[in-house]
Amino acid sequence: MNYISTRGNGGVTTAAGAIKKGLASDGGLYMPEKLPELKKGEIAELAKMSYPERAAAILSKFLTDYTYEELLDDCTEAYSEQRFPGGAAPVAALGEKMRILELWHGPTAAFKDMALQIMPRLFVRALKKTGEDKTALILVATSGDTGKAALEGYKDVDGVKIAVFYPVDGVSRVQMLQMATQEGGNVDVFAVKGNFDDAQNGVKKIFSDPEMIKTLNDNGYFFSSANSINWGRLAPQIVYYISAYCDLVAEEDIAEGDVVDVCVPTGNFGNIFAAYIAKQMGLPIGKLVCASNKNNILTDFLRTGVYDRNRVFHTTMSPSMDILISSNLERLLYLVAGSEETAKYMNELQTKGVYKVSDEVMAKIQKDFCGYYCDEENTSETIKNIYTSYNYLADTHSSVAISSAKQYLADEKNAAKRIIIASTASPYKFASSVYEALKAEKAPEGTAALDALSELTGVEVTAPLAGLDKKTVRFSRVIEKDDMPAVAIEIVKGK
Ligand SMILES: *Cc1c(COP(=O)(O)O)cnc(C)c1O
Repeated sequence: MNYISTRGNGGVTTAAGAIKKGLASDGGLYMPEKLPELKKGEIAELAKMSYPERAAAILSKFLTDYTYEELLDDCTEAYSEQRFPGGAAPVAALGEKMRILELWHGPTAAFKDMALQIMPRLFVRALKKTGEDKTALILVATSGDTGKAALEGYKDVDGVKIAVFYPVDGVSRVQMLQMATQEGGNVDVFAVKGNFDDAQNGVKKIFSDPEMIKTLNDNGYFFSSANSINWGRLAPQIVYYISAYCDLVAEEDIAEGDVVDVCVPTGNFGNIFAAYIAKQMGLPIGKLVCASNKNNILTDFLRTGVYDRNRVFHTTMSPSMDILISSNLERLLYLVAGSEETAKYMNELQTKGVYKVSDEVMAKIQKDFCGYYCDEENTSETIKNIYTSYNYLADTHSSVAISSAKQYLADEKNAAKRIIIASTASPYKFASSVYEALKAEKAPEGTAALDALSELTGVEVTAPLAGLDKKTVRFSRVIEKDDMPAVAIEIVKGK
């Protein structure tokens, strides 16, 4: 299976090459040349397997330069009972139609673990397969969840060092403590004076600075990233949609071949795009419901065909979806409109901040996708309603999706008989907001909110978040954004 760029001028590479490089040389994203298909009877076979076996079987269709044994070894370790107690991606029922796909049982309690537990293993193999002898320096700018999941995935991985930059006032207390107490000999964490964009721009500048690249090279290093635009993060996400379908078949909740809808709380469009690929492979998915918070740029796009980032940015209680540029949308445009048109849209986005796709492209997109959004008040109400009606505790992001799914079900007479809703974070990761939604009063400060929420609901604090305030803080450096290159150099010079 070869990989090519969404913008058509990035050459051809292997899966290992795509995972090592991250971004194609023309600025586009890597895509497989052709999408593999689920064979007749394959769902029934997969339904009998464990999660790691399902993951290895599905990944082996995409990563053909990795052997099945390599993939099975990596998946078995990545999705072990120790890392994902109780199973990697269990499905819970909410009433007759809604099925919640819980993606947050990993080491950092957010769905990023589903990809970032396996990707470092694929990355290390990619270095070997491509004959790389330098050490990778992975730089991550994070608004919270990605940083911690990347640190946990790459800690003590051979041939890799990782540094995470987060905005000093832009992450929750829980998220800050998760990163500041990170273990591992190859990790670094810095708080940057500025907002998320400052941190992200800082990383981008370092990546494209020829002098920095030379300094790294002279010291035996090269830059890499762990962002969701890397194919190594996307491919593992396809697995859990197929796995959820298999679980519903195995439980006889649906019959094999029954159509299900899928609803995903969306930011960078990676998670929902993985569901779209599962559909293209032949998984019986009807509509893909794209759920947004008050930053509803994707809702507007899916309804009008106009993607316009010239708008106010809102900070919400579902911060991992506070995004105005959904990078992975480029992959959908590529599949639907081809590389030439995609390159044109991306250029317009870069220069004018807006593009409009053709009616033909829009008709194709609307055949598979629809968009709904949920504002702050509605998110709180949904948290409360779901808890009252089903005794189910959902985090803020998952609640945006549940609200959107409900709106979809109310609108759509032709909805499938089941809708699989991706739940992307433990309610304890956003404990204050969840507590405040349930109790209608201010939550106790900091990590006390976790205990308060647990006391209120009787639901145990998600294991990786319990006792966070008792862990040793290892990283407390606050830096100016202009000092980001200097700290990167400190790392490669081993100071
Ligand atoms: C990253 C994240 C999202 C958004 O996922 P995308 O793949 O970027 O669309 C949603 N919820 C949570 C909790 C996340 O961490």
